[in-house]
Amino acid sequence: QAAEPKLDTLCQQLIYNDANDYNLLVQWPLGEERIGGAVDFGDAVHAPIVCDLAIACAYAAMGKNDPMAATMAVVEGFHKVHPLEETEVAILFPLIALRLLVSVTTSAINARQAPENEYLQISSAPAWRLLQQLRTIAPSLAHYHFRHACGWAPCPQAASFRQWMATQNFLPVVETQWQGVAALDLSVGSLDLGHHSQYEEIDAFCDRIDGLLQEQKATIGLGGYGEVRPFYTTDAYQVKGHAGPRWRTVHLGLDIWAAAGTAVRAPFPGRVRYNHNNIGERNYGPTLILEHEWSDGQVFYSLYGHLSEDSLRGLQAGDAVVAGQLIARIGDRPINGNWPPHLHFQLMLDLLNEEGDFPGVAFPEVAEIWKSLCPDPAAMILSEAALASLNRHLAGQHNLALDHILQKRRSKLGKGLSISYQKPLIVPRASRQYLYDQTGRRFLDTVNNVAHVGHQHPKVVQAASRQIAVLNTNTRYLHPQILQYAESLLATLPEELCVVHFVNSGSEANELALRMAKTMTERQDVVAVDVGYHGNTGACIDVSSYKFDGKGGSGAPAHTHIVPMPDTYRGIFRADKPNAGMLYAETVREAIGRMEEQGRRPAAFICEGILSCGGQVVLPAGYLKAAFSHVRQAGGICIVDEVQTGFGRVGEHFWAFELQGVVPDIVTMGKPIGNGHPLGAVVCTREVADAFANGMEFFNTFGGNPVSCAVGSAVLDVVQEEGLQQNALTIGRMLQNGLRQLQGKYHYIGDVRGHGLFLGFELVKNGKTLEPAADWASFIVNQMRERAILMSTDGPLHNVIKIKPPMCFNEQNVHFFLEELELVLQMI
Ligand code: PMP
Repeated sequence: QAAEPKLDTLCQQLIYNDANDYNLLVQWPLGEERIGGAVDFGDAVHAPIVCDLAIACAYAAMGKNDPMAATMAVVEGFHKVHPLEETEVAILFPLIALRLLVSVTTSAINARQAPENEYLQISSAPAWRLLQQLRTIAPSLAHYHFRHACGWAPCPQAASFRQWMATQNFLPVVETQWQGVAALDLSVGSLDLGHHSQYEEIDAFCDRIDGLLQEQKATIGLGGYGEVRPFYTTDAYQVKGHAGPRWRTVHLGLDIWAAAGTAVRAPFPGRVRYNHNNIGERNYGPTLILEHEWSDGQVFYSLYGHLSEDSLRGLQAGDAVVAGQLIARIGDRPINGNWPPHLHFQLMLDLLNEEGDFPGVAFPEVAEIWKSLCPDPAAMILSEAALASLNRHLAGQHNLALDHILQKRRSKLGKGLSISYQKPLIVPRASRQYLYDQTGRRFLDTVNNVAHVGHQHPKVVQAASRQIAVLNTNTRYLHPQILQYAESLLATLPEELCVVHFVNSGSEANELALRMAKTMTERQDVVAVDVGYHGNTGACIDVSSYKFDGKGGSGAPAHTHIVPMPDTYRGIFRADKPNAGMLYAETVREAIGRMEEQGRRPAAFICEGILSCGGQVVLPAGYLKAAFSHVRQAGGICIVDEVQTGFGRVGEHFWAFELQGVVPDIVTMGKPIGNGHPLGAVVCTREVADAFANGMEFFNTFGGNPVSCAVGSAVLDVVQEEGLQQNALTIGRMLQNGLRQLQGKYHYIGDVRGHGLFLGFELVKNGKTLEPAADWASFIVNQMRERAILMSTDGPLHNVIKIKPPMCFNEQNVHFFLEELELVLQMI
């Protein structure tokens, strides 16, 4: 009925009339698939061109959790190649539905006439399901989506409504002196909102709102239109999207935070459309919707949410309301949905359905559509001063635009910096094992071992902020904090390792360790492992083959002697050699031998506890024991770099070197040691420490300062208190078992390896030749990012995916991760 009268007026031509998945030929490569051709022209007819689009949309949306996203992508592509007319887009939704009805009808006829032909039934079930899904979508809303996909204003009347609004005088919605108004920034990256604990617990959130108002000496708080809010990103609000989870995060109303009982008045004449005074359990609490006429019979609606139940008792649907009339009062907890008292005030240009059930928060991908449908009410109710203050606070939120950040980075920062993922991520907030992007999407972090005990762990945050408020200075003054921390740290190590020097990073730790070894031995030569990485300083780069053998590098310096990676999967000695550890250690002895032939001897041997940049390579049994023995025989110092692996991550032990049953002369620490705070440490034997203290002062301005030590102590405490080493062991095993099960199904997973929560899996195109599949690894990582899971690749052949999440990673995270990973593996 909606489409038919208009069809004759539309542009017609010969159309293909059957663009479904079974008729389209797809071109590769993986991740860049394109439609390369089509078959089966038997249905071609002369008809309106938009019918071709409707048919393609119908098939594209079948079997999708989010049919609108699928159809919008098709409309956008179609419009780019063949610009559509507004009149065509206006009838697209009924045409899609029509195609589905034709499809289920022909299937039903075919089922009778040719029951043996299964192909003729192939789209019947998905077509019925899609019809059911489409029934829940208001046709006008679908229309706004399609208009948006064409790059037009989603809601056609939005611009004229805004113009009309600017010419009107409205009365105040909330009785107030606007001098006492504060703009509240509750956006995802808001520093005002602060730590996640301040909004995840409702009492804490109420306190935070009160606190913000008090700090600004205000009685009314204001804000929230178009704001991306982190408190909508918990499991409770999670929805399954077409690729991974989604959250409605973009707030569509303006919130006025004020005392419960505050009077709410109609800003404009109208009549009551809905009075939901009995829905305390809903997110909005009791809600009122008024309908107003604005021009030539056009209407808009105003919504008042989180009201008190009793204040709504006098109003009936249909009652006329005059401007300024008392219509309700702001509700208190818990009737208002258990929020801090406030009025949610929202405008709508279309009610979409007859139930009066209208969302107050939108999915970020379609927020522009909803914002067009729900104009900003600020101009309607605020004085100029209040509006200006609101816009000032919003300015900070708008700075999060991707293009803006990328362009500034390019012009102001060094070009050597890299960016993760084909689609870069803006990250304004993190908590525990999650990172949040600027749209409020919650990403599961499987790769950030720096946030060891969880991003922004409250205990670590508190330790840092308490200490920095009181004192931060250097080690030339006496202070108990450093001693307490040194003792706690040393207690985690074998007793031979009994002296600590504090620095500010893993690089600084390795730099100092190398200097100690060189000072003690009065030698310069270092034996290091192939594809190792030890830091960004001069001496560290000199022993990091990952860098000097990589892009922009110029090979090993004369005093660096590289030994092969002890990799039993694709290295020179493999798992079939039971004594691979000894054989690899022999390569260390041989390197020392070659050095000695040139009249040189090693100052040190440096090796990671598990090779990280090398591709999460677990050292074979006996490797370090034998290698250390060769090095020590030649008078060298044995350094283990625990920057990646330390602090309980490997599960069975607190330190990865303990997996090898050895005690190094020096252990270096970084990354997880400060949970993101810049901190590093070098722990060594008394002998090394005394030899290093040769009269030259060791001074490090920031190393060992009270704030860093408070942070380091807090990290150790949390690892202990929360049993995180044990968690790494049990959750790591669960994860590794899950990966092995996937390996059984998907043979291009060549190897799964690691300990605790320091894992990797290697992708190969051929299990015999071990041909690396770097393109597949990169495809997986980028697809997982689309599904809200962050991972990264490493290894010399870039085909190893590493997993080293914050140590609070839990069972639910493992299941979610494995499910999503399998969906991506199936795409290869
Ligand atoms: N050692 C290892 C094993 C590392 O992986 C790194 C950093 N990736 C470093 C040292 C250097 O640490 P930082 O970048 O914190 O200085």
